[in-house]
Amino acid sequence: MPGAHGSLGRWLPLSTRLGIKRIVILGATGSIGTQTLDVVRRLPERLRVVGLSAFRSETLLREQAAEFGVLSSSLAWGDEADLVSLATMPEADIVVVSVAGAVGIRATLAALEAGKDVALATKEVLVAAGELITAAAKCSGAKILPIDSEHSAIFQCLLGQKPEHVAKLWLTASGGPFRAWSAERMAQATLADALHHPTWPTMGRKITVDSATLMNKALEMIEARWLFDVPIERVGVVVHPQSVVHSLVELIDGSVLAQLGLPDMRGPIECALLYPDRADLGIPKFDILAQKTPLAFEAPDEARFPALALARRAAEVGGTLPAVMNAANEAAVGFFLDEKIAFPAIVDLTARVMDAHTVQPSPTLEQIMLADGWARGAALRLRISP
Ligand code: MG
Repeated sequence: MPGAHGSLGRWLPLSTRLGIKRIVILGATGSIGTQTLDVVRRLPERLRVVGLSAFRSETLLREQAAEFGVLSSSLAWGDEADLVSLATMPEADIVVVSVAGAVGIRATLAALEAGKDVALATKEVLVAAGELITAAAKCSGAKILPIDSEHSAIFQCLLGQKPEHVAKLWLTASGGPFRAWSAERMAQATLADALHHPTWPTMGRKITVDSATLMNKALEMIEARWLFDVPIERVGVVVHPQSVVHSLVELIDGSVLAQLGLPDMRGPIECALLYPDRADLGIPKFDILAQKTPLAFEAPDEARFPALALARRAAEVGGTLPAVMNAANEAAVGFFLDEKIAFPAIVDLTARVMDAHTVQPSPTLEQIMLADGWARGAALRLRISP
């Protein structure tokens, strides 16, 4: 294809000239990582994997490397320094960040500073360090492409819209397994109850518990605030139990745009990796004529789900408070998964850690990491002696 990229074409790497995107996946063996590899498997002429990291599953990572032809020198084991070198490797065009929690902050920042687009599944990165992360992207011109179904929906609805025409972003929430439970019944909820998500069956354990407390939606409010540069009061939450409408954008003239699809993360992953292009993955598609149950929308019950108010407070106060909310919640979910605390104590403990925190305005990365560590320690202390 001579001349496809003008006279510069012959100086570009062969893969770029052929339109292949070379991707690094941080967190390759988790739910999003394995689904990302399935997208690559379905689009071999468009995507190539050049680096992989995992935290625990060494055997699976070795199998993935063998299948996708990744050099053993381009594998990493979750150590922060190794994640940073993978995230900045010269061969990569786009970095998928799908590690568990705040451990992904430094690597995301490094990728963006190196001018690499980031397909971001780890929402905790934007919650804890949204100001630094978005500033780094603005500075280098790299893009942050969401791999979160709600934010992918909003991203798609916003294409072609002027920022001044956007009135409000509406995140849909399935409501989780306890949507219709009383507060009394929720107080008795077991780990198995919380891990039973009604519409998204293949998520990791931490995010499934976050969906049950609605802390996942709380984190997504702050994620949306940074991704789309809107104040938190213009980010709304609507409960939509069918998980067919993935989110909505309300414009100033009252028009509301929505994105619909099956609950399958391979859609948002494809959208992020191929942007601005698209491709047919050959997976089941949403059939509007086969939709049997009516689509319902209702306001969330903020008394039973106090996590939403915590997110609003964290975003309004800003500084280190969102990082503290995120870290305290990560710790509290860990306690719940170890069956050390009851279900309502997850958000209660998070709120008490936030109350005990002295907020640092405009924090550096080091201050954010310190606040994160402080919050985990405080969560443990407050759990043991409330
Ligand atoms: Mg989501």
